[in-house]
Amino acid sequence: MSVGKITIISGPMFSGKTEELIRLVRRSVYAGKKCIVFKPKIDNRYDKEKVCSHNGSILECIIVDKAMGIIDYLEKHAGIDVVGIDEIQFFDDQIEYVVREIARRGYGVIGAGLDKDFRGEPFGRMANLLCVAEETPKLAAVCHKCGEDAYFTQRIVNGKPASYNDEIVKVGAAESYEARCREHHEVPDHLGFQKE
Ligand code: ADP
Ligand code: MG
Repeated sequence: MSVGKITIISGPMFSGKTEELIRLVRRSVYAGKKCIVFKPKIDNRYDKEKVCSHNGSILECIIVDKAMGIIDYLEKHAGIDVVGIDEIQFFDDQIEYVVREIARRGYGVIGAGLDKDFRGEPFGRMANLLCVAEETPKLAAVCHKCGEDAYFTQRIVNGKPASYNDEIVKVGAAESYEARCREHHEVPDHLGFQKE
């Protein structure tokens, strides 16, 4: 049995996390490894059973509604070497245990997800996942405002920066996201937020 390893790719939206996940999975396939990719049920932006990047790369994947579903699947399907997990920040809190446990069982784990939410705070279990991983490539997008490296995700609701207190899902609101640098990342109503 091989020694497991955890890689967590993180960064804001549009930073190329999914592209990098697809690249690393394809690389493992070239190395003769059997790979499988999972994603949580919540992400239905594009195709249901495919991992899609913003630039059009596509990989087949298995949708699971709970983190423990990954272990259940692996226990029923022998011969897998590498487990990819996209949008890993959306999984329930068990994901930290699941990732550590499958690495302990000898699998390679390649996760990709947002390190921070739109408020700029750690997303779900991501801070812990980044802590327990052996490798943590952190990617930058391009700031929508100035072209600098962007490490933040700007949430925009009805044309304005989303408030710190905005609920995560706003019914009936037109919302969108942009990659922003620290300077241009705006979170109104954040304790201590002052924008001149
Ligand atoms: P992520 O999974 O991090 O959201 P993807 O891998 O899906 O990112 O997409 C990355 C691609 O998005 C880039 O290669 C580029 O083609 C495109 N893109 C769109 N907006 C931006 C931006 N502001 N900065 C960088 N890339 C962008
Ligand atoms: Mg992605």
